Amino acid sequence: MNVKVFQFNGCNKCFHETILLKQNDMEVELISNPKDWKGEKIDVAVVSGYLLPEDKEILLNIQSNANKLIAYGDCTTTGGIFGLANQKGANITPISKIIPESFKINGCLAEIEELTATIKGGEVDKPPSLCKVCKRRSTCEYLDEVHRQIDIFENEEACFNDLGFLCNGYIATECKERCVDYGTQCRGCKPIIDRSGVRMLGMFGTLMGNVEVATEASKYGATDKLADKDDDMTESLPDIVGNFFRFSLPTSGLPKGRIHSKGSILENVFTGRLIEEFPLITGLLGGDNSISMTLSIIEAYEKGAEIEVNEQTKQYRQKLRSLEKELKNAIDAQDAEKYKDVTEKIRKIAGNMNLSNVFYGGFKTPIDGADNFDDYKAEPFEIKEGTYKNGIVEFSIDSKGVIKEIKIKEGA
Ligand code: SF4
Ligand code: SF4
Ligand code: SF4
Repeated sequence: MNVKVFQFNGCNKCFHETILLKQNDMEVELISNPKDWKGEKIDVAVVSGYLLPEDKEILLNIQSNANKLIAYGDCTTTGGIFGLANQKGANITPISKIIPESFKINGCLAEIEELTATIKGGEVDKPPSLCKVCKRRSTCEYLDEVHRQIDIFENEEACFNDLGFLCNGYIATECKERCVDYGTQCRGCKPIIDRSGVRMLGMFGTLMGNVEVATEASKYGATDKLADKDDDMTESLPDIVGNFFRFSLPTSGLPKGRIHSKGSILENVFTGRLIEEFPLITGLLGGDNSISMTLSIIEAYEKGAEIEVNEQTKQYRQKLRSLEKELKNAIDAQDAEKYKDVTEKIRKIAGNMNLSNVFYGGFKTPIDGADNFDDYKAEPFEIKEGTYKNGIVEFSIDSKGVIKEIKIKEGA
């Protein structure tokens, strides 16, 4: 089986994950610059990264040469996390608007097992909903209060939503990365339905029967503002778009945002997000550098806000940094065995390849084989308005913890 993987724009994490296809006796070639591809007949074309309208011609060339075309990862299927830049006028475009008939594998990071099955035999069976397999249980009690992730908590049994922490597991399918097992609410990267953000917003709004919510209809049926003046929901979740439409803004049906562009795509994705979302987003879209980028951001804030970090946490972070180097070596060598081995080690400490277990002040859940969780666990922290800097990154947050400005050095 002849498989070619084409990387378009943005994060290359899904692209590199396809190195694992080599373990399935496939002849795999990774093409990082599809523009220069001359074209030849192939069995399967896999497309990763986010797409722009100007990529249409190259995509059509790939499609005309391939027996099967698979869009791999949210960036390609729904616009993914980069799609949040559409709030500021970008035009990140889901593949269905360019090639309606491709196979689609959602996920951020998308799962290699689903890609392998799709290459071998067409569509994969729909997995069950994430809530069905989650160990937390829903009570469907109305909420009295909405929390943000900066409030770390001990309850391991109740559904996050019932505790007041927004969890998009309600609209997601079962997944391999399972952020919910690592103290992190599901962000909804594997939506079970189209326009999942609208459904989630409706469900969470219903749970908030005890909280003052004012909704404002628009002729499009939804809006990223819930009231003319701040209502309780907007107060407690200052980033409605980022929380409910994190991976699906381009497919949400919401009107295009009118906020001015901040300049680069990364600045457009990050500004407006919340401080607690920061490490999660960098863990998702940071590509080869997701570990160092995430830790740089976390450490910038810890230093500026005087959050104490103990030795055990520092050691685990050091280990993660050295694993990132090993991962880059495995990618350079296109070594599938090594890639698998290193990613398994990263998952053991960081929870998953989204780094869901990595947080300000420490880790959210116990690390397998580590003795004393108290030595490295994250604690709730206060938001401190200000500007924070560390190596490759500089950012400012306001008094609610909303990111106002960010600069990330080129090539980081
Ligand atoms: S941002 Fe997520 S979906 Fe996009 S390429 Fe990276 S890991 Fe894959
Ligand atoms: S909404 Fe989240 S926490 Fe609640 S049951 Fe579903 S996946 Fe689990
Ligand atoms: S738990 Fe994490 S990996 Fe799974 S669907 Fe939710 S955000 Fe995606």
